[in-house]
Amino acid sequence: MPRERIALVGIGKIARDQHVPALAASPDWELAATVSRSGTVEGVEAFTDFAAMLEARPDIGTVSLCLPPQPRYPYAEAAIRAGRHVMLEKPPGQTLAEVHCLRALADAFGVSLYATWHSRMAAAVAPAKAWLAGRVVTSARIVWREDVRKWHPGQDWVFEPGGMGVFDPGINALSILTEILPHTGHVTGAELEFPANRDTPIAARLRFSENITADFDWRQEGPQTWDIEIETDAGPCALRLGGNRFEVAGRDVAGEESIMGEYPALYARMAELVRGSQSEVDLAPMVHVADALTLGRRVVTDPFHF
Ligand code: NAP
Repeated sequence: MPRERIALVGIGKIARDQHVPALAASPDWELAATVSRSGTVEGVEAFTDFAAMLEARPDIGTVSLCLPPQPRYPYAEAAIRAGRHVMLEKPPGQTLAEVHCLRALADAFGVSLYATWHSRMAAAVAPAKAWLAGRVVTSARIVWREDVRKWHPGQDWVFEPGGMGVFDPGINALSILTEILPHTGHVTGAELEFPANRDTPIAARLRFSENITADFDWRQEGPQTWDIEIETDAGPCALRLGGNRFEVAGRDVAGEESIMGEYPALYARMAELVRGSQSEVDLAPMVHVADALTLGRRVVTDPFHF
């Protein structure tokens, strides 16, 4: 089938690291335009204004938004109103209501909306889900500890309202958890550590109704930890490296070290959704984040500077 034309909006860290290489190798998509105030992709028509791109390129049927969540909603709304299919980076919005509005709008305009969760495409997530199916889960423990200076250098938006703070990576863990377990219950309590000079948490500890805990921390230097350890009636298992390795009783059984398969899988899924005139908008990971922010006890900690 001929490749569909797509525009990439927000040529920042994730667009360069993942979206551009995934699209370059895609059998489904042709990167036909970029919209950015600062970045371009060689050989691709570059716009600085989103409305101008929508007006000038009616042949581009799909828009992939790689902006941070705070500025993203008006872009998504304008794209849908212009009859374009829309792919959203995670988290799909600043708030749940924003995403409900986009879903309703996409349905009204007859376009596809895909709220992506890249970590669900990690190599070992599907094998872990298959292994867990039919087993009784008795507890789960998420430990997601990384260095914000390494992964978000200078990105002040993560600490601004709507940026989610440590939930920006934490929601990746929750996207995996809600994919592999049929019942994650609900958040029952949380402690949130806010740097004295910031509006979002740098660390969070969550408790769930289903004997699940989560420990998110953005202050870990040295080796990084992205683990989900699960006890079942058939013994322990664990997803490590952000869902890329799956262990059963301490032995590696599936996965790989590379994360480079996640974004190609997202774009393949977007192609399926567009061809099938469908949308995929699962807000389960974001519900847990919103609830943690609602229930969380606030603890003030040291100021944070990049
Ligand atoms: P980023 O590099 O800080 O920003 C991406 C682009 O967004 C920037 O290049 C900028 O575009 C545009 N932008 C930023 N603020 C804007 C504003 N107020 N108005 C209009 N455009 C604005 O962010 P990122 O790390 O790529 O993250 C973007 C999204 O991807 C986030 O939702 C994040 O959670 C997700 N994500 C990030 C990573 C990662 O490793 N960083 C991994 C997975 C997912 P121009 O200068 O090009 O106009």
